[in-house]
Amino acid sequence: MIVAPKIRGFICTTAHPDGCAKHVSEQVSIVRSRGPIADGPRKVLVIGSSTGYGLASRIAAAFGSGAATIGVFFEKPGEPDKCGTAGWYNSAAFEKEALAAGLYAKSFNGDAFSDEMKAEVVAAIKADLGQVDCVIYSLASPRRTHPKTGEVFKSVLKPIGESYTNKNLNTTTGVVDDVTIQPAEGDDVANTVAVMGGEDWEMWIDALLSENLIAPGTQTLAYSYIGPDITWPIYKNGTIGKAKEDLERVQRALDAKLAPLGGKAWVSVNKALVTQASSAIPVVPLYISLLYKVMKAQGTHEDCIEQMDRLFRERLTSPQPDEVGRIRLDDWEMDAKVQQPVIENWAKVDTENLKELADFDGYQKSFLKLFGFGLEGVDYDADTDTGVKVPSIA
Ligand code: NAD
Repeated sequence: MIVAPKIRGFICTTAHPDGCAKHVSEQVSIVRSRGPIADGPRKVLVIGSSTGYGLASRIAAAFGSGAATIGVFFEKPGEPDKCGTAGWYNSAAFEKEALAAGLYAKSFNGDAFSDEMKAEVVAAIKADLGQVDCVIYSLASPRRTHPKTGEVFKSVLKPIGESYTNKNLNTTTGVVDDVTIQPAEGDDVANTVAVMGGEDWEMWIDALLSENLIAPGTQTLAYSYIGPDITWPIYKNGTIGKAKEDLERVQRALDAKLAPLGGKAWVSVNKALVTQASSAIPVVPLYISLLYKVMKAQGTHEDCIEQMDRLFRERLTSPQPDEVGRIRLDDWEMDAKVQQPVIENWAKVDTENLKELADFDGYQKSFLKLFGFGLEGVDYDADTDTGVKVPSIA
């Protein structure tokens, strides 16, 4: 099949298998070029391992510290005449590279929130690895079926208390206009916390602890975001921010549970980056475009892979926690040298000056890359096999 991008709002409904493979191999090369990670984890479970921060975590663990990895994700497999999702092709490519490097890699495609998925992963760890020494929790999902009650929760991206109006970028057309988002109502906050909060992270760690699958000294991490105050009504102080507060509650609970094993739970606050999850948040893509412009000009821009390489290479051994005990990989983003020009440009940016003040081109290229488009060396006019398998799932 010949595969071209089909963009619908903030998603692309097609994905290019060879382009996704190239994207994965570029990330592998970046980690390899920095040399082996000393004292990194060796047996790593990544929940949400197929795209964005989770994929980059899996790549950094495998190709940086030589870790055996188990990945869990929810993706659509490709068929010979039908595109799968990018996360499917990324995972196929990851496993092929891992196998070629002699690294154990097993993947599970299905609902990470379910008891069944936890049981399958527990069985695989028991059979193949004995224990894990690092658990990354990197899910971003719009809904969750609760495993005990069957209730379906939907997460929303809304401010709390009052409506919020700010500038917004149409990432397809490049038009900057105003968006107004109505505040959360009814059970919106509780539902968002049920999906994106920490309960499921704790259920995973409990499932592993109850089977003695957590090695001494294990670290577990979940990812969060804070950002500048222009985004706070929709992020930090909004429904998603309440879910991130709940992650911190669970981080403290997990810390206590892991302490007898010499283990540690972390919330890592990461940089704002173009991913499938972040492109769905109003206001944030314009902020990211302005941020990329400044950070690229200052030479401090990182993508998911550089962030996760820095996490595994430096912060797992030297965490440098903030005043409330979080790892801060958003340190370069939040540096005043970066924030000051970004916020100045935020006040000025409009449709006419977008390309001058923001890295809109970079935003669009990063977005297309998430789906395997625009990668050098990929022949997009050639037939490609959309039915590729993930080796451990085939
Ligand atoms: P993403 O959309 O790229 O990845 C989400 C992952 O979750 C995918 O692997 C997907 O398959 C998996 N997933 C979703 N629902 C699932 C389910 N029911 N069962 C199994 N797997 C499922 O998202 P991302 O941006 O990498 O986000 C990961 C985490 O990082 C989130 O907690 C997010 O809030 C956080 N974060 C993101 C940013 C950012 O700017 N993108 C910044 C800081 C923190």
